[in-house]
Amino acid sequence: MTERPPAISLRGVRKEFPGGVVAVHGLDLDIADGEFVTLLGPSGSGKTTVLRMIAGFERPTSGTVSLRGRDVTAAPPFERDVHTVFQDYALFPHMSVRRNVEYPLRIAKVPRAQRRERAMEALATVRLDGMADRSPTALSGGQRQRVALARALVGRPSVLLLDEPLGALDLKLREQMQVELQQIQRAAGITFVLVTHDQDEALTLADRIVVFDAGRVEQVGPAREVYERPATPFVAGFVGTSNLLRPDAAHALLGRDGTWSVRPEKIGLTGPADDPPPDTTTAVGTVSEIVYTGATTRCLVALDAPDLAEAARLTVLLVNDGHRRQAPERGESVRLFWRPEHEIPVAAL
Ligand code: ADP
Ligand code: MG
Repeated sequence: MTERPPAISLRGVRKEFPGGVVAVHGLDLDIADGEFVTLLGPSGSGKTTVLRMIAGFERPTSGTVSLRGRDVTAAPPFERDVHTVFQDYALFPHMSVRRNVEYPLRIAKVPRAQRRERAMEALATVRLDGMADRSPTALSGGQRQRVALARALVGRPSVLLLDEPLGALDLKLREQMQVELQQIQRAAGITFVLVTHDQDEALTLADRIVVFDAGRVEQVGPAREVYERPATPFVAGFVGTSNLLRPDAAHALLGRDGTWSVRPEKIGLTGPADDPPPDTTTAVGTVSEIVYTGATTRCLVALDAPDLAEAARLTVLLVNDGHRRQAPERGESVRLFWRPEHEIPVAAL
């Protein structure tokens, strides 16, 4: 069996804008057929530029873009089997929902009866078939987002590019749409590349996350791996909360060289005189801050380590499950402990 070429393949892709801004520095990335990939990074890190180069709205300064093994670097957008969903949805307010969804098929000169059928099918996929005759202006934000999605699906592209598609929605709706996006992606078997600056969204949705910072890829991997094994200090800090132990702190607390990370939820907490569980690393300190967030309580603990200037404070995340010890009070002395396997190296020695 011959291996299928990746749905998307980027090789040495670099983008420099006039004025000398390098938005993307030499990017190599393969995305498999049917994969759900998120591009995660702070604002200005080059995510949209990467998406626009895949779609053909932007030409790389150097490097190549291939779709299913075909070099499309110089091909215009309409010659690429991809569809882009923009953040503002870009719906036509003077057309009904159904006609909005039909629009790409009309451009492609699909006969009327067939395009109507396919539009209704796409609307059913996003559960909006009951609203086909409405104007998009009479819809909620989440419904408009689904119309944009239906319009993207109606042309049956093999790749769907989504640029912060849920950014305008409130939290509850966003979480609901995340579940729907996943279901649609699985059912349609389409390759999804979704840009987000929201780490929870990236972790929730993706088969694989590509973490960007300042136009460079910091790490590529499955959600669990990026979270549990952050490759760089940037990833450790950007994806989830992390206690970053710079070399002096790592040396004093862990007896290790280099920079290390310990996630707040991996740290246990007990009274200062209590024995910690066997085979754990432990440190004693004073609770300096308590933040109750409902399901969890976040405690900031200042360690009794006078020789440590920086990073002498650790964040501990306690789950309010009622089974464990109650969260301590501010000013209380506590003992922290964690298992050595949760000490993650995040930079070269
Ligand atoms: P992100 O989507 O991660 O927020 P972008 O890809 O939009 O980042 O932008 C990356 C960098 O490239 C930013 O510094 C941005 O200002 C710059 N940039 C983007 N588009 C252009 C453009 N058309 N001309 C000049 N600079 C641009
Ligand atoms: Mg962007």
